[in-house]
Amino acid sequence: MKNNRQLFLSIVAPCYNEEAVIDIFLEKIFYIMQKLGKNFEIVFVNDGSRDATLEILQAKSKAFAEVRVINLSRNFGKEAALTAGIDTSRGEVVVPIDVDLQDPPELILEFVKKYEEGYDVVVGKRIDRSTDSRAKRVSAETFYKLHNKISDIEIPHNVGDYRLMSRRVVEELKKLPETQRFMKGIFAWLGFKTAVIEYKRESRVAGESSFNGWKLWNFALDGITSFSTAPLRVWLYLGMVLAFIAFIYGSWIIIKTLLFGADSPGYASMITVILFLGGIQLMGIGILGEYIGRIYLESKNRPIYIVEDEY
Ligand code: UDP
Ligand code: MG
Repeated sequence: MKNNRQLFLSIVAPCYNEEAVIDIFLEKIFYIMQKLGKNFEIVFVNDGSRDATLEILQAKSKAFAEVRVINLSRNFGKEAALTAGIDTSRGEVVVPIDVDLQDPPELILEFVKKYEEGYDVVVGKRIDRSTDSRAKRVSAETFYKLHNKISDIEIPHNVGDYRLMSRRVVEELKKLPETQRFMKGIFAWLGFKTAVIEYKRESRVAGESSFNGWKLWNFALDGITSFSTAPLRVWLYLGMVLAFIAFIYGSWIIIKTLLFGADSPGYASMITVILFLGGIQLMGIGILGEYIGRIYLESKNRPIYIVEDEY
């Protein structure tokens, strides 16, 4: 089926150190696809795994005509791996999915039903994240709220990468050249007629999540700086307010000195103001740095990923 002309469904699964779950994942997918009764391909993207993931995937590709493997030259991160898979997918519809089975594959049947009703995008919305840690849920919730307040593009709450996209959505997606890829935001930016299907997020069947606190923080920062310039603009207003306060305070000191003469015990207030302003300035510079760093990365125009080989 590797050169099927009328391929219906492409499943895109990025894999980073997933040796423990590939078998279970495939078994489940084949079972669901049998129910669907349409032709399909599974595009695995090996994102520089350090375990036996690649060997297992190679064997699967030999054993099953439906399995294709894109092997990236190193670990490029989930967003890039996903992009690689979507770029090479050939189906009439494309479904990105995590291999750890946190996104229940049964949902694909419902996705397809909605697609046949005329939707170009069908997203899976997690209604129950009780299997994620409390810290992860709270930080995710805070992120969505903050992001949607300050960005022009609204990311729907609790909607991940698990979704169905029609061919024309995928073709539009492929036109976006940015190398800093925050897929949730990019998906939302694309628009199109979208249906939502709710589901319960399971816990990983095996293996470990590769997203720890620091990685998630950087992920959130990517999200906000990719889709909003509010953090840049806020400094203008903060600066204006502070300058105004400083002006009032300065006037008051001048008047006081003129009326009552100079007194020296102003050390405490002085040092407070200096430290406060110093802090604000450093923060402002930091924010500028975040954006400039991103401009720098984009301006290099490097490819998003490098394919080492395909199986
Ligand atoms: N993943 C990847 N590259 C990475 C990190 C993760 O391709 O650098 C894949 C991983 O194999 C999995 C999916 O992205 O299929 C989601 O990763 P994970 O389960 O670790 O994230 P979580 O579910 O905790 O958000
Ligand atoms: Mg996971």
